[in-house]
Amino acid sequence: MALRTIRIQGDPVLGKICREVTEVTPKIQTLIDDMIETMYEANGVGLAAPQVGILKRIVVIDVGDGPIVMINPRIISTDGEQTGSEGCLSLPGKAGQVTRPNHVIARAFDEEMNEFEIEGTELLARAICHEVDHLDGHMYTEFVEGDIYDVTYDEED
Ligand code: ZN
Repeated sequence: MALRTIRIQGDPVLGKICREVTEVTPKIQTLIDDMIETMYEANGVGLAAPQVGILKRIVVIDVGDGPIVMINPRIISTDGEQTGSEGCLSLPGKAGQVTRPNHVIARAFDEEMNEFEIEGTELLARAICHEVDHLDGHMYTEFVEGDIYDVTYDEED
């Protein structure tokens, strides 16, 4: 596995639409493994392939319960609402208030290309919406209510 370079907002790759994955080739498996490693190294809760410069519909998420790999994810239903602080590894040190559904059901394929359904509330629901947006070239900054602010991290953590 290897760390990949995370693209920063302003990089044109972050505004592009990603292509569907038809087969998990060894190259794609390496990409997925690298994305997970890169996400952990950056202390993120999610990472989408375009954030490492690859225009494929792949996201990885870990909200604290282990890594979730979603290939060709689509959100099939949402309900409720949550407003909270949201940040992105492509805009380090910044955050803003974004309203998202509080409950999301999505379908995606795993690394064996078996389709599965995932249900998330709160942070997981937010992460799924945020990462799926990246696959269509969207950043959370498009949806921020109010200002984007600086965040400081506790160095004890
Ligand atoms: Zn992001």
